[in-house]
Amino acid sequence: MPFTFDNTYAGLPTEFYARVEPTPVAEPQLIALNRELAELLGLDPAQLDPADAAKWFSGNALPSGSEPIAMAYSGHQFGGFSPMLGDGRAILLGEVVGRDGIRRDIHLKGSGPTPFSRRGDGRSALGPVIREYLVSEAMHALGVPTTRALAAVWTGEAVYREAREPGGILVRIARSHIRVGTFQFFRARNDLDNLQRLFDYAVRRLYPETADAENPVLAFYAEVIARQAELVATWMSLGFIHGVMNTDNTSISGETLDYGPCAFLDYYDPAKKFSSIDHGGRYAYNNQPGIAQWNLARLADTLLPLLGDDEQRAVGEVKPLLDRYPDLFQSALLEKFSAKIGIASGDDASWSLIESLLGTMHRNRADFTRSFRLLADALDGDDSMLRNEITETPALDAWLRDWRADLARRGIANEAAAALMRSVNPATIPRNHRIEEAIVAGNQGDFGPFERLHQALRDPYLERPEDGIYRLAPRPEEEVQATFCGT
Ligand code: AMP
Ligand code: MG
Repeated sequence: MPFTFDNTYAGLPTEFYARVEPTPVAEPQLIALNRELAELLGLDPAQLDPADAAKWFSGNALPSGSEPIAMAYSGHQFGGFSPMLGDGRAILLGEVVGRDGIRRDIHLKGSGPTPFSRRGDGRSALGPVIREYLVSEAMHALGVPTTRALAAVWTGEAVYREAREPGGILVRIARSHIRVGTFQFFRARNDLDNLQRLFDYAVRRLYPETADAENPVLAFYAEVIARQAELVATWMSLGFIHGVMNTDNTSISGETLDYGPCAFLDYYDPAKKFSSIDHGGRYAYNNQPGIAQWNLARLADTLLPLLGDDEQRAVGEVKPLLDRYPDLFQSALLEKFSAKIGIASGDDASWSLIESLLGTMHRNRADFTRSFRLLADALDGDDSMLRNEITETPALDAWLRDWRADLARRGIANEAAAALMRSVNPATIPRNHRIEEAIVAGNQGDFGPFERLHQALRDPYLERPEDGIYRLAPRPEEEVQATFCGT
């Protein structure tokens, strides 16, 4: 494979990973290749023979220059600490510096057992591969920092979950796979030398500008906090529910990582959760901002030893940074939701309009994505579709009146507001029932629905006539009630 690998993680001490090769699969078939991303990584998709690509992207053939490893990490899962997790079904092939100068990990997910597999089979079913491919690429198109999907492979083998299912492998691309849980791994072992090495590595790779700060540890921590606040505010503004915000799924790079039981809101309900294993709703929609802060506190725990021997003093240095998170998050949220109603710089007045709209949407079980998108049409003079979403006429009338008055008071023209709104309120999101449809068909070897949905998600802020069905909310019988973890 004409990747030019330039591996750095595999050069770290052996405590950071286990060297392990992918386990070959029976009959790999390439079901998706992301040409644009392949080009960014220096590949020429036209030169790529599909049979060769299937071998490389399944791990059946190892590209020269790759140094396959399974990364070690720990993590808090649903609040409980597991000191030993690690890549149990994934392998990092190596790193490539893209045409944009950015270094990225090339990672196979579902590539067979590793020393971290515990009782797992090291494999992935095809369904979760399809979900991760569609949703991570949709998130990228929506403008959300995320890992990406380079390719998806059908293995020609079965995996056994609740039932027998076809197996799949995803080729995942990330700025780095270092997680909060990677820091926890060395902290839990009190391996301070390697903790320091991990920190130095993460700074150099992800936050080089903090290396020259007066206190690089504090500068690094402040940056990670800022990126998480921004990321989770973006999720909230799009109605995205990650579903399994464990510390091992919290990327230090600020990218959305691990699309297991994720889902987008259909109707607006702030307490909504989809994951079938999240019984208490720990990772419900409106719990996400607080959980991110909790995860950042776990990162702080690991950084304390790097701040010197006086732990009290270290806590006193770190705590003010974490205490700034709620304000950082809230101002990012205010900015994003204000834009959703056409106001570029938010304030108390725009916030009270937003709260009132969300309250009305909740009472009416209005579709989150459609309602916001249709506000721009209402401003253009056609509120008929919006009235199908929000059926409580007096409340909607009152809100529209207050909103128009507020825009007028600010001197914002309708056209300007509508243009801003259409640039931040997507028309097309990966709806749960459409993903389900793509998975059901894919499991039977029909990738047409997957491809059509993928196409429709490429320009989520445009309304292409041919993609109309992907903009519809599910009918009651189509509604997805629960999503599953990929495991
Ligand atoms: P996840 O829920 O995907 O974030 O995974 C949590 C942990 O379980 C990670 O250490 C995974 O590598 C591991 N894991 C998940 N599924 C499997 C599997 N099928 N085989 C081995 N390990 C797995
Ligand atoms: Mg994970």
